[in-house]
Parts: sequence; structure tokens; C-alpha cells
Amino acid sequence: MTTTTSRPIPIPDERSAEFFKAAQQGRLLIKRCPACGRNLAPQKEICDGCSNEALEWVQASGQGSIYSFVVMHQLLHPAFKDEVPYNVIVVELDEGPRLTSNLVGSANNEIKVGQRVEAVFEEVSDDVAIPKFRVVGSAP
Ligand SMILES: [Zn+2]
Repeated sequence: MTTTTSRPIPIPDERSAEFFKAAQQGRLLIKRCPACGRNLAPQKEICDGCSNEALEWVQASGQGSIYSFVVMHQLLHPAFKDEVPYNVIVVELDEGPRLTSNLVGSANNEIKVGQRVEAVFEEVSDDVAIPKFRVVGSAP
């Protein structure tokens, strides 16, 4: 078994390339169903409402509120050893879909359900930026 200390980086494929390209430009994309108008999380391939598979990308505001969160104390990947404990939040975007991400710029013990958050983008490689969130009004 080989060990690596580099963080796992998402590799854009044809389904996610658009999402990561937009993230690099500081834009958060979600999916939208043109048949029934429902907004969906970016990873959705089929509409929850009408099973339509022809979803389109639309730009989200990047604004939402914390729906739930956990603070992870357990090390699940060696590359994150310097970051334990770290938080995992579920953000309910103003457009409706929920995204799993991390809250940056706040202490883990200050995270509260219902806090207003906005997307920020963390560049992890030349072609991948990952949306994270910070509390609205907190320092960049
Ligand atoms: Zn639909």
C-alpha cells in the first residue's frame, strides 16, 4: 500500500467540467430541470421531480444558510491530518438544493444551523477550484 500526503483532488470529467470551470471563475453552478423548473444539486443527473435526464446548468447566487453540520474529529484520510477536527456543513442554497461543503473563516464551535453563508472558491490545482462557504459578513 502506498501512502500519499497530497489531498484528494476532484478530477473534472465531462459531467462536472462545466461546474469546475465556473468555480474557477468564482461562479457556483447548480442543475435545473427545464421540464418542471426544479432546481437541483450539481451532482444530480436525473430530476427528482419528473425523472427528466436533460438537465441544464444554471448559475446560483452562492448564498444560502447552514442546514446542518458535523465536526469531524476522526481522521478519514491521512492528507487531512493537520486539519482534524474539521467541519462538514450542508448548505441549503437560496435556490433550494443542498450542497455538502466546508465552512471556512469560522471556528468550529461557532457554527450554527441557520447561519447565512456565501460561496467562496478555493483553488486546489490549475484547473480545479472547490466551492466552500463562509459566514456572510465575515472577513475574507
Ligand atoms: Zn423535472
